[in-house]
Amino acid sequence: MKNLTQIPILDLSAEVDELWDELNAAIRRVLRSSQFIMGPEVTEFEQRVAQYLDVKHAVALNSGTDALIIALRALGVGSGDEVITSPFTFFATAEAISLVGAQPVFVDIDPQTFNIDPNQIEAALTPRTKVILPVHLYGNPAPLEAILSIAQKYGLRVLEDCAQSFGARYVGEQGGQPQRFTGTLGDLGAFSFFPSKNLGAYGDGGMLVTNDDRLAEQARMLRTHGSRKKYYNEMIGYNSRLDTLQAAILLVKLPHLERYNQARRAIAQRYNELLKDLEGLLTPQLTPGHVFHQYTVRILNGRRDAVQARLAQRGVGTMVYYPVPLHRLPVYKHLNLRLPESERAAAEVLSLPIWPQMSHSTQDAVVEALREALP
Ligand SMILES: *Cc1c(COP(=O)(O)O)cnc(C)c1O
Repeated sequence: MKNLTQIPILDLSAEVDELWDELNAAIRRVLRSSQFIMGPEVTEFEQRVAQYLDVKHAVALNSGTDALIIALRALGVGSGDEVITSPFTFFATAEAISLVGAQPVFVDIDPQTFNIDPNQIEAALTPRTKVILPVHLYGNPAPLEAILSIAQKYGLRVLEDCAQSFGARYVGEQGGQPQRFTGTLGDLGAFSFFPSKNLGAYGDGGMLVTNDDRLAEQARMLRTHGSRKKYYNEMIGYNSRLDTLQAAILLVKLPHLERYNQARRAIAQRYNELLKDLEGLLTPQLTPGHVFHQYTVRILNGRRDAVQARLAQRGVGTMVYYPVPLHRLPVYKHLNLRLPESERAAAEVLSLPIWPQMSHSTQDAVVEALREALP
């Protein structure tokens, strides 16, 4: 067997090399200022994100998980309420719903997009439904037009899980209409700055964005122990501030994001061309606005695990996002749901190496290994 070089699924070092001087200067400024908690970089980062996404408020938080929890609390979701979401997502999406005392109601996905199927939402509504929580999985915008119209019809709120979709634009189903960023069409958008995300910090981080003044104020209070004014706590909240150091790092990275997302799209498009003739493999759609947090193919005929193992032998890192749909995990198994498309996706998906600086020759090596690994 040829001894190929190791190819990780994600190489964060390329970006650090590229931005090394700027990052060092930013980190040093924070060290010199000693303002490690809620320093000026946090506010500046909030303003710059609000400007970029064209949204009224951005509230920087400690993680994407906290952003979801705080969003649900700000929306008044609690015990006895139901929240509609996708079972084919990272655990935190449903965990946040459970943590505020509400019940996740899982609706199956559209096999083309891996996102929640809007045609199945209405059948899942009950008098207890309060919120629809779509996830823009892999950076692919969920069908917001359909979701927002259901929400409007039944008086529900919409919280977008944008952990994987920073910079993704939603293009309406008819096309044509102005493009808005994911996270700014629903009542609230929840973002994660986990290092591997499209806009990643060098530690944990998250954010909520909204055009609603009251929701923004609630989120700001919940971020700091339920207080507007120190020691005058008004409700039970959290300690969920974004570190100044992380804000300073994110300020360096934000101006490069648009270019990085374009690079991801170009790599995805090239993968689609290089892989289009391979049998037993389905490539993802290059939908408008998709920012390819992951480039995820389907490996058909029950061969996924074998193909992944062969790629690993050839030094190519891949991941399965996600091997168990949430309704089959121990904590939600009692719901006794059969959601066939989510279950099939969990058995077939394989995410291939992608990062903005990935070279053509590295990508060619991945494709070559995949060609050899497929039966
Ligand atoms: C990463 C992720 C989260 C959680 O974000 P953290 O910052 O790690 O807490 C939530 N939802 C989805 C879909 C994610 O990918």
